[in-house]
Amino acid sequence: MRLDLTVNDIKQYTYCKRIIFFNHVMPVEIKPTFKMELGKIKEDELRALEKRRKLRRYDLYKGERLFYLSLYSTKYALSGKLDMLIVTRNGYYPVDFKYTDKYPGRNHIYQLGGYALLVEDKFEKKVNEGFIYLVPKNDVIILNLTDRLKEEIIRMLDEMRLIIKNEIMPSPTSYRNRCLECEFRNYCNDVF
Ligand code: SF4
Repeated sequence: MRLDLTVNDIKQYTYCKRIIFFNHVMPVEIKPTFKMELGKIKEDELRALEKRRKLRRYDLYKGERLFYLSLYSTKYALSGKLDMLIVTRNGYYPVDFKYTDKYPGRNHIYQLGGYALLVEDKFEKKVNEGFIYLVPKNDVIILNLTDRLKEEIIRMLDEMRLIIKNEIMPSPTSYRNRCLECEFRNYCNDVF
């Protein structure tokens, strides 16, 4: 039986492979960073507002919005809680809210790709695009969720399971600036 993983695992693994070790092999206590706390509060407020807004912002004029969607896929042994799903006659569009004004990083794109896999499996509809809502800028980024991205994520899930099963601690990320904001930095003695 395959180990269940989450979309959050995909996001973190893309940020730094070592995080999967701390979360699944040798769980450690972490404190949420200020950025995480702030993001959560603002996103909650925004979700309340978003319910009253029209879809014009997303260029989708007729559609239903589903909030806080808990998804699980037996096919991928993957779960995740999606901020919002827009359903129109033409397609299904996952939306993730981010408290940042920066263009989405690779980890955020892969996270959205993970949601796309979950939505595809649950609704049996292909997902070709998704959105990242940049809360501070009140802006929306449209992302193509390609087959290649989804295949890469599936490969990544297998890789994560191997790391967990064999209790391998991956090398630290080569982007050391990521370590400065990482909640696991106290445990990476070979970096600091
Ligand atoms: S501190 Fe750096 S190497 Fe350690 S888990 Fe975080 S990002 Fe990875």
